[in-house]
Amino acid sequence: MQLTRRDIVKMGGAACLVAGTAGAAFADEAAAGYVVGAADINFTKETDVLIIGTGISGLAAGMEPILAGKKVTFAEKKATWGGDSAFSCWFMFATGAKFQLDYGYTTTIEESWEASKESNIKTFDYDWWPAWIEGKTFANTEFVDVSEAEFGCKYQEPATEEELPRLFARVILPADGVGTGYANILTPLQENLEAKGAEFLYELTAKSLIKDAPDGAVIGCRFEDAEGNYVDIKANHVVLATGGFVDNGWMMNKYLPNWAHYGSLVAGSSMGEGHAMAAAAGAMIDGMETSYVYCNLMGDIPNATTWGYWAPMVLVLPNGKRFIQEGQSHDAAQKALDNGYNEWWVIFDQQAFDARCVAKSVENNIVAHEEAYVTADTLEDLAVAMDVPVDTLVATFAEYDGYVEAGEDKAFGKVAHLKSLSAPYHALRLNVRRYKTSGGLMVGGDNQVLDVNGEQIPGLYACGAITTQAFASCSTCCATGYFVGKTIAAM
Ligand SMILES: Cc1cc2nc3c(=O)[nH]c(=O)nc-3n(C[C@H](O)[C@H](O)[C@H](O)COP(=O)(O)OP(=O)(O)OC[C@H]3O[C@@H](n4cnc5c(N)ncnc54)[C@H](O)[C@@H]3O)c2cc1C
Repeated sequence: MQLTRRDIVKMGGAACLVAGTAGAAFADEAAAGYVVGAADINFTKETDVLIIGTGISGLAAGMEPILAGKKVTFAEKKATWGGDSAFSCWFMFATGAKFQLDYGYTTTIEESWEASKESNIKTFDYDWWPAWIEGKTFANTEFVDVSEAEFGCKYQEPATEEELPRLFARVILPADGVGTGYANILTPLQENLEAKGAEFLYELTAKSLIKDAPDGAVIGCRFEDAEGNYVDIKANHVVLATGGFVDNGWMMNKYLPNWAHYGSLVAGSSMGEGHAMAAAAGAMIDGMETSYVYCNLMGDIPNATTWGYWAPMVLVLPNGKRFIQEGQSHDAAQKALDNGYNEWWVIFDQQAFDARCVAKSVENNIVAHEEAYVTADTLEDLAVAMDVPVDTLVATFAEYDGYVEAGEDKAFGKVAHLKSLSAPYHALRLNVRRYKTSGGLMVGGDNQVLDVNGEQIPGLYACGAITTQAFASCSTCCATGYFVGKTIAAM
């Protein structure tokens, strides 16, 4: 059989397999060839909703279908659930969630939507876009409420203005603060999905989508199990929640060459396999080069990259000098590179151990990364332990303390947590890493994946970091997953 651009291979009967490897699927020219060793389709399992990937977006996609009594099957290539979401810092956004309103933040999601509607509906020109973005915006809040009420997820009492001055009313965290989403969100969600009847299949790697005809609906997926056997699963709705492509060197070189040579923080989940399978099924591939707009680089101890938002920190380069306003610490990796370094130090004191939003993360990370952790009772000893010039570090702190006293950071304009540190001092060394990507599939008005002509591919849905619309952020991965599930549950 000859392969076309979409690598469509007719496999006997009416159904056909649309193959695609994460590296070859986006070639434009037609290629002549034959699929060697591909077995005929043999459905051994049937389900209503087949969700491929068990990170936060996939789990979120299962919520409403399982509550609606549908048969939901999760298929995951790894031996356990969680994906890259398990390592996330879980800095999330929400407005008008029940626990926020209970706490006394009065803005409802309706008010928030009215205020942002005009700019949001302009993002894309599609006819269906205004309704979709409204649905996704509300899904963001609904995810938080339903995950709490029905699936046992736990959120922290919202930050006060003092704790997070700029964003306090909108940012939400898992119950034990930064970096605790695995315990407080993913685990209860997975356990309760399973308790409510969802099936979880592990060590099944999705290889090809199955269509009822070359230009027809997606009706299932072919997987490979741990022994290399094919497993074909039939489904009414197939949801791609396979994450981004940050672990795929070929794709990184093609779409984000400037980041390709930095080491990856995560391993083996985000290989772009869903992008390739969808492209082979005729999906439009969109926005992958623009990842850098939404996903800046990160430190290799990810939580520590974000602590500066929540507590007083001083960030210095290996030369002992400050280089960033620490209240915007997420940008530190890029700023370190801009200064000619690919590592930096986060220096903190007891105030970080006392800040409830980061305390657990601080305690956990100094134990988990003792190779990168030093502590000392004087700045001089700290500098020696860090192997940075003693005089420079002492001078950096003297200058910083002067800004604190004056109430104005003349060097970097730091406003939040402009406070001095005191002994004992603690420091963690961070290295620049790539950690996530955005872009790939666009879903249309019914949350089905758009083909190259902008039409929805029946039966094929997508959510999370594989989609352009999720921008690979936690909240939008939750929201797009929940929104897909809500669409399917209503059918
Ligand atoms: C270290 C780190 C810190 C972050 N911090 C934040 C933050 O504070 N705030 C924020 O907004 N965002 C943050 N992000 C980004 C955000 O967490 C991710 O974008 C989001 O969790 C991705 O969720 P997902 O479900 O789309 O993908 P994932 O969680 O990666 O899940 C994808 C799943 O699909 C599986 N899979 C892939 N291919 C196949 C296949 N062929 N067959 C079967 N299964 C497959 C994978 O194994 C994985 O389990 C962070 C990300 C990282 C890595």
